[in-house]
Amino acid sequence: MNIAFGKPLIDKNEKDAVLEVLSGTQLVHGKKCQDFEKLFIKFVGGGYSTSLSSCTAGLHLALIALGIKKSDEVLVPAQSHVATVHSVEYVGAKPVFVDCELETGNIDLNLLEQKITSRTRALSIVHYIGIPINLKKVVDFCKKKKIYLIEDCALALGSKFGKKHVGLHGDIGSFSFYPVKHITTAEGGMVISKKKQIIDKIKKLKAFGYDRTLEQRKVPGQYNVNLLGYNFRMNELEAAIGIEQLKKLPKFIQLRRKNMIYFKRKMGDTKFIRILDYQNKQAYNSYYCITLILEGKLSKQRNKILLRLKDKGIGSSIYYPGPIPLFNYYKRKFGFNKNQFPCSYIISNSSLSLPLGPHLQKKEIEYMASTLKNILKAMV
Ligand SMILES: *Cc1c(COP(=O)(O)O)cnc(C)c1O
Repeated sequence: MNIAFGKPLIDKNEKDAVLEVLSGTQLVHGKKCQDFEKLFIKFVGGGYSTSLSSCTAGLHLALIALGIKKSDEVLVPAQSHVATVHSVEYVGAKPVFVDCELETGNIDLNLLEQKITSRTRALSIVHYIGIPINLKKVVDFCKKKKIYLIEDCALALGSKFGKKHVGLHGDIGSFSFYPVKHITTAEGGMVISKKKQIIDKIKKLKAFGYDRTLEQRKVPGQYNVNLLGYNFRMNELEAAIGIEQLKKLPKFIQLRRKNMIYFKRKMGDTKFIRILDYQNKQAYNSYYCITLILEGKLSKQRNKILLRLKDKGIGSSIYYPGPIPLFNYYKRKFGFNKNQFPCSYIISNSSLSLPLGPHLQKKEIEYMASTLKNILKAMV
């Protein structure tokens, strides 16, 4: 067996769509990006959108668009992809780390109050492995404190809280189409917001700060520049793939959910592990991956287990391999120690993640569960 942690499902539709773009004349600034943005809005059920070169670019431009700058503070999760926090550093603001809760891996809302200062301008949250954070509480908190809310939705395409898709609850949401995410465009991202002026600003910021788009130029080649913009656009090839992927997304999510149910059934009540599978009436999980927390006798065996899984041809990963504040860059800059983020520390060091994607066959899930059970049994 050779089971990939994440495997993009690219078939004839994507290939034909890419070839069609390549046969035309428009590789950027074209209609495919616009179509992808429209379809995306249709999928999430409202708001405004603009495509980007990555989710990280989206988080970065979100902070600029909201006016976050030097001497501002932004509350960030200790347990996330480093991009959630790097984006705060890009604009020169100070990330203020908040530990996660063990039940979901999401930022611990009970810790927010004590971290807030007169300089706090925004809260950036991640929906950890597709588990939507309690957005009712988060939005209430941000409103009360008059701070912005940024949702890092890189692992949460398809997740909802209440009836509303994640990314539309706060001021801005950023999504990723990196190969192992719910859908892919190779590299790519999308930001959404219910506020048109935020997306309009990001449209300018992602294209050098030009004051008009190609279509808006009466005289070809003529424009002015009002902003220090970047080059963070998506191209037409990526958008063409994205459109085809988006058509398959509902099916993908259904399969992810089904795979999770099947995997859990096969694992039965294996001792010393806890599978993160949080959902309830309000929180609709889009199931990014299987994450297990190793407990008791197994809590210090994570890396050994990962190596054994690798030997058996099972792709795995860690979400994420460090509380962000303990990565060298942040540790050196702010001098944190591991006792400051106890729950993130546990997830970083005692959890492992397994594939859940639509590429999995039933017999692969069976193999994954039985192999894992054998490995664990040999260790306790
Ligand atoms: C993957 C990921 C990112 C980065 O996405 P890119 O599109 O590669 O920039 C950001 N945040 C989270 C939570 C992620 O998992």
